[in-house]
Amino acid sequence: MLISIVVPLYNEETNISILHEKVSNVFLNLAHQFELIFINDGSSDNSLNILKSLSDKDSHVKYISFSKNFGKESAMYCGLKHANGDATVIMDSDLQHPPELIPDMINLYQDGYHQVVGIRNRKKESFIKRIPASAFYKLSKYLVEVKFKSGEGDFRLMSQQVVDSILKLTEYNRFSKGLFEWVGFSKTSIQYYHQERNEGKSKYSIFKLIDYGFDGIISFNNKPLRLCFYFGGITMFVCLLYILISFINILMNGIDEPGYFTIISSILFLGGLQLFSLGIIGEYIGRIYFESKDRPKYIIEQSNIFEDQ
Ligand code: UDP
Ligand code: MG
Repeated sequence: MLISIVVPLYNEETNISILHEKVSNVFLNLAHQFELIFINDGSSDNSLNILKSLSDKDSHVKYISFSKNFGKESAMYCGLKHANGDATVIMDSDLQHPPELIPDMINLYQDGYHQVVGIRNRKKESFIKRIPASAFYKLSKYLVEVKFKSGEGDFRLMSQQVVDSILKLTEYNRFSKGLFEWVGFSKTSIQYYHQERNEGKSKYSIFKLIDYGFDGIISFNNKPLRLCFYFGGITMFVCLLYILISFINILMNGIDEPGYFTIISSILFLGGLQLFSLGIIGEYIGRIYFESKDRPKYIIEQSNIFEDQ
């Protein structure tokens, strides 16, 4: 059996060789063949040169190098597109995803599961990442039809069929966590302890993560739009009721209201609600705009495998 390991990387010069060594060691004890596909997502450090020299020494190593930084989602898509394995494992390059888990993943795949998902134990993670993450998963339960589970990341093994299905989802704004879930297929999981990043810093700041979470909610359904509709409806109903009461009051008692507070609060509230709803509609329109451009998700500058963009 051939197992493809897909590794997106961006400025990870210090980690590539260690990861390569660890993965190679894992496969020393396995009867399976493997290919290690590195996707260099426009690194500005020495990553590409390291990849080139690794691939010269070891024929298991393949690399595809982008013309600039297109983001991890694009890199993963490209990696899956070029994976030839019976099963494919996606993992980060910073050693946060332990390669030692791969044999267990393969065993579960051989038991018949199409997806084997690494679930990370968040206990060791920093407070600043854990709290928003758990808030996101709680919120997503109500807002998203696809269920995300806390701790599920991109570290997973997928059968060829799953990979083919993912590749059929060609959208530009990708939220892989949701796409992996959306395609279905039988699924199981393995727990692992999330290691500290080996070298370098995380490429995802807290703001980028919030953005990413927002993407996840918007790109999977139209519930936020529905919410605007409900909010609008409820507000309209309450306002009508208020107008009616005020009108009856005027008929019975004559006009005798200073009214400053009611006017200013309704202007501010309605204005806020309208801007909020417009913002949500804008998010969807923005996505339609990008999808309609139909730009490529990545551009390959060089590679040691064939170019078939
Ligand atoms: N990565 C990438 N392109 C990017 C950002 C990150 O290919 O634009 C890679 C990165 O090199 C790493 C993986 O995606 O292999 C996860 O990134 P990181 O470790 O920074 O994220 P975190 O683990 O903090 O969520
Ligand atoms: Mg990391």
